[in-house]
Amino acid sequence: SAQKETLGFQTEVKQLLKLMIHSLYSNKEIFLRELVSNASDAADKLRFEGLNNAALFENDPELKIRISVDKDAKTITIADNGIGMSRDEVIANIGTIAKSGTKAFFEQLSGDAKKDANLIGQFGVGFYSAFIVADKVTLTTRRAGSAASEGVRWESAGEGDFTLEQVDKVGRGTEIVLHLKDGNDDFLNDWSLKRIVRTYSDHISIPIEMKKGNSYGENGEVIVSDDFEVVNEASALWTRSKNDITEEQYQEFYKHVAHDFTEPLAWSHARVEGRQEYTELLYIPSRAPFDMWDRERKQGVKLYVRRVFIMEDSNKLMPQYLRFVRGVIDSNDLPLNVSREILQESKDIDAIRAGCVKKVLGLLDDLAANEQDKYAAFWKEFGQVLKEGVGEDFANKERIAKLLRFVSTASEGDVPDVSLADYVGRMKEGQDKIYFITADSLSAARNSPHLEVFKKKGVEVLLLTDRVDEWVTGSLTEFDGKQLQSVAKGALDLGALEDDADKAAQKQVEEAAKPVVELVQKALGERVKDVRATARLTDSPACLVVGEHEMSAHLERMLKAAGQ
Ligand code: ADP
Ligand code: MG
Repeated sequence: SAQKETLGFQTEVKQLLKLMIHSLYSNKEIFLRELVSNASDAADKLRFEGLNNAALFENDPELKIRISVDKDAKTITIADNGIGMSRDEVIANIGTIAKSGTKAFFEQLSGDAKKDANLIGQFGVGFYSAFIVADKVTLTTRRAGSAASEGVRWESAGEGDFTLEQVDKVGRGTEIVLHLKDGNDDFLNDWSLKRIVRTYSDHISIPIEMKKGNSYGENGEVIVSDDFEVVNEASALWTRSKNDITEEQYQEFYKHVAHDFTEPLAWSHARVEGRQEYTELLYIPSRAPFDMWDRERKQGVKLYVRRVFIMEDSNKLMPQYLRFVRGVIDSNDLPLNVSREILQESKDIDAIRAGCVKKVLGLLDDLAANEQDKYAAFWKEFGQVLKEGVGEDFANKERIAKLLRFVSTASEGDVPDVSLADYVGRMKEGQDKIYFITADSLSAARNSPHLEVFKKKGVEVLLLTDRVDEWVTGSLTEFDGKQLQSVAKGALDLGALEDDADKAAQKQVEEAAKPVVELVQKALGERVKDVRATARLTDSPACLVVGEHEMSAHLERMLKAAGQ
């Protein structure tokens, strides 16, 4: 066989390894979840490739994972008969980090072990978690369909480098041997290992097998068994009935599909019948993924067809404004050979997507109505993204509008907790519009001279400071029959809010200020369109307004900042 060679890890991998060992030390047992998760992914990939090439199953069609322990050697072995890896794949997948957003990831690392642990989880660097408990990892793998002599052995102590050599491997798939560090003997105990597998990996859809425990004969003699038993439920979680799934199982499944270590905020699980038959299990994470604003991001919802994993898609199964949603859609009707191209054009997918969007919005409605703390947490993480939906999803615009939360002049603090319905419920006698102001910051909004007249009259104004708010107010022109009106645009018509006294005052001011207005007009000349006197300012001497149909000053600043 070919010679053993030594290769260096990418710098990032080295950094990551160090970090992982330090950050995740208090949560050691997750290594098992990550390795089992990978084995399960490998089975998914084999099933998918096997659709067009049955030879890949090599007369060994029962996909499974086996975990075994050698107490004397102090090793744990996790073996699968999934897709396996070629030499090049080994180098690409477990010697380098090729994922998009790597830079963003490293930039966000804080040095705070707890925060970083979450980031690591999101990044999906599961394989390296083996080094939390092992000081040497030996991975032997052979890609399905290649010759037995094409096996590859990768070995590393998790420091600067790893070795590679070509070996014989009869069965396809991957076997990982963890040489445990001192102090990890707990993991050598079958009983505790089984408990961990059940806790973390019960949702895995293929059997996870472990050696049967020893039993005792009639005379108390130990009967050592060489049989294996299945320790998990071994059916795809989403296919099970809701009543048979515990909270913990839902949570663990989320961690597997979403590559996230944190608990999800909420989920929706339903079997949908009708023109399209499918099952959806969709989650709202509790934290925004680090690459939520990265155009290249790959993660999204996983599409299965009749239990076979087809692909993970970041933009066809969910609209952009719900890009944080994770989970599984399993269709009964789509063809198994559905490709990305077909997905783009498929009317069936459109129908499934529309149904799933409704489920997610329903989940959010429910949180907003019944679990306000959770909804507030959701809004903090994803509010800015959801706001995009007002302009993106015409069919659900009203529904999304109800889910929006803002800070207003009636808010106690800076937390956006005012819904448009709250606002409408508090509207003054005679008020027929929803007033808002856009600004760069809350303090700029609160101190704007445009608000003076509203303060005087006790009329609430929404304070919009997110970048996306211009887009929101551009697309959402009314809510509940009430027009949304910027307080900084045009000759603001206060309608019935304006009483006779206001009108008289305005007239008087206009008269009195005529000479000043003329002077100012002359001084500013072409630079302004108009100069007017107003009775609406109570504290400020003057303010700028923009024409009814012109860009707001805020948007203008934003575009300028963006170099346009
Ligand atoms: P992720 O699972 O998020 O991709 P991991 O670090 O867990 O990240 O795994 C990295 C990659 O290594 C996987 O994407 C896969 O390509 C490969 N890999 C890991 N374990 C296995 C396995 N048991 N069988 C086949 N490929 C594997
Ligand atoms: Mg993984």
